[in-house]
Amino acid sequence: MYKYPEPLKKLVEQLMKLPGVGRKTADRLAFHIVRLSPPEALRLSQAIQEVTSRLQLCSHCQNLTEIDPCPLCSDPARDKRLLCVVESPADVTAIEKSGAFKGCYFVLHGAVAPLQGVGPEDLRLDRLKNLVIQRSVREVIISTNLTVEGNATAVYIADLLKPLNVQVSRPACGLPVGADIEYMDPVTIEKSISGRCKL
Ligand SMILES: [Zn+2]
Repeated sequence: MYKYPEPLKKLVEQLMKLPGVGRKTADRLAFHIVRLSPPEALRLSQAIQEVTSRLQLCSHCQNLTEIDPCPLCSDPARDKRLLCVVESPADVTAIEKSGAFKGCYFVLHGAVAPLQGVGPEDLRLDRLKNLVIQRSVREVIISTNLTVEGNATAVYIADLLKPLNVQVSRPACGLPVGADIEYMDPVTIEKSISGRCKL
């Protein structure tokens, strides 16, 4: 029976450890990597090495950063008493692109997902609580995803923060800009009607 040469086998094994990468995708990526020129392969491996050696979590907001505290937490122009809780660093980037938010963030790096074995204790929520107390935060916007896990996480955090007397909110959900109502799913329509605003 044909077996991959040892270095290729090793690479496939490592790639399969990445989320969402099964055997087929790992094979495809590995065969692509095999065809890279030595300088290209070096750049790829250096990039992987650098994200692990040069990046750390900000001790305030837990976002990925090269310096601690991160540029957002140390920016005097940001409102430190307004906190937006998100699931991942990619969410921070997306919200920053909108330019709609001038507060600070707290990155959970996940959501409560009992089926995948992720409980509230895995999300370092004690740090969130401490940050709210330390900065006398006046409002926490829980911008976790609008999924079962994201909603469950939001409810859990709201309960956790209740004794602190801080305003807790969730971004409005409803019809996306440019939407054609006839093509919207019933849950989105229901949410947008129940969360309607005055004209
Ligand atoms: Zn930070």
